[in-house]
Amino acid sequence: MKVVVVGGGWSGCAAALAAKKAGGDVVLLERTDLLLGTGLVGGIFRNNGRYTAAQEAIEMGGGDLFDIMDEVSRHKSLNFPGHNHASLYDVNKIEPYVRTLLERNGIEVNLMNRMVRVKKYAKTILAIITDKENEFAGDVFIDATGTAGPMGNCLKYGNGCCMCVLRCPSFGPRISLTAKMDIKETMGQRDDGTPGAMSGACKLNKATLSPQILEKLERDGVVVVPLPEKIDKSSVLGKKACTQYALADYARNIILLDTGHAKLMTPYFSLNDLRNIPGFENVRYEDPYSGGNGNSIRYLGIAPSDDSLKVLGADNLFCCGEKAGLLVGHTEAIISGLLAGHNAVRHVLDMQYLQLPTKLACGDFLEYMHGQMIKPNGLKVRYSFSGSTYFERMKQLGLYTTHNEEIKSRVAACNLSNIYSTCLV
Ligand SMILES: Cc1cc2nc3c(=O)[nH]c(=O)nc-3n(C[C@H](O)[C@H](O)[C@H](O)COP(=O)(O)OP(=O)(O)OC[C@H]3O[C@@H](n4cnc5c(N)ncnc54)[C@H](O)[C@@H]3O)c2cc1C
Repeated sequence: MKVVVVGGGWSGCAAALAAKKAGGDVVLLERTDLLLGTGLVGGIFRNNGRYTAAQEAIEMGGGDLFDIMDEVSRHKSLNFPGHNHASLYDVNKIEPYVRTLLERNGIEVNLMNRMVRVKKYAKTILAIITDKENEFAGDVFIDATGTAGPMGNCLKYGNGCCMCVLRCPSFGPRISLTAKMDIKETMGQRDDGTPGAMSGACKLNKATLSPQILEKLERDGVVVVPLPEKIDKSSVLGKKACTQYALADYARNIILLDTGHAKLMTPYFSLNDLRNIPGFENVRYEDPYSGGNGNSIRYLGIAPSDDSLKVLGADNLFCCGEKAGLLVGHTEAIISGLLAGHNAVRHVLDMQYLQLPTKLACGDFLEYMHGQMIKPNGLKVRYSFSGSTYFERMKQLGLYTTHNEEIKSRVAACNLSNIYSTCLV
């Protein structure tokens, strides 16, 4: 039973692990020389409702990636404006841990293999072919190629290539497996209807901060520096992909988080503006290199899928992560990847697909997001356990909790304890 996962971001890694544990023989393809995709520059997890979602995944037997994130966290139980009990994994350390985990589980990881073509019969994918002319045949496929870039899109809908971690000039552009099956994809929208959204957070090189700011950042995990009155960032907050940070505090202050780099939570600071702020006189961007000019454009290729994450319009294709909807976040990518990987194996075994119940935050999240995306203006919203509309809903429905025993009982009551670590074969 051969499962081929295309894309090695958080969602693809989670899908590969879940498919392997369910009994599949799994191959993972990634176009760059590193796993984790946009997860290489993120780091924030367990903030607000992401805590509940991560614990649900752990109780369902899908905790391996969260264990690694916890292990390489620089700071835990951190509070910063609008966000409680966050952890920050070290973005510089995490990738080899994940790669080793996948390989130890017997997953064949193929880096620098960019899917460029498909072999298909009617609506069934037979094999995919990479830019190296390697052919990977499979019984079932998972599209985890994300929605960021490539350069042409960043030029058309953003401020040009900002030289982000996806490194399209070196490794070639993102190519969607769903699109290769001639299935029409959806684009997210900004408030004015422009397609996509610009990624928000940039990373500053820590060594270029003043010693006082650096010391506080490394000690506390967070630094809040009030902005001079003449700099007002309120107009840019709504443009960010991560609407959970569109709060007044992020317009009036510079908020830095220690993820290994100094993560700058408010976007679009020109280098000159930044260097006029005390403590930032010598500052440089670490990611993206042209962070003073813009960031990557995302949400440009979302596959039509149902709540089991089966792609509509293809017989043997599942999707996860940003490919599966307007979701934002590592946690959101992982919980969808686990489901897609598990259901891919169920597909080959001709079993009923798993659909997560709405009594769990993970199930309610997927159903709510898919339902909202077909409503008027639904494509203008991004969905995350950590804030914005979905976190409000979580609280209203009583789904948000940080009590591990309660989460364990909820998962058990749904008969889903360890479902993702159960071999189906
Ligand atoms: C700057 C930035 C900061 C962020 N910070 C945070 C944060 O702190 N916390 C948080 O929770 N979320 C954060 N996010 C959001 C989060 O990173 C994403 O929502 C999530 O990780 C998406 O995962 P994914 O697997 O869906 O996609 P991606 O991470 O985009 O991964 C897709 C992968 O597929 C590969 N790929 C594409 N096409 C092909 C192909 N044809 N063949 C082979 N491989 C292919 C790509 O190279 C990439 O590795 C941040 C995002 C950005 C951009």
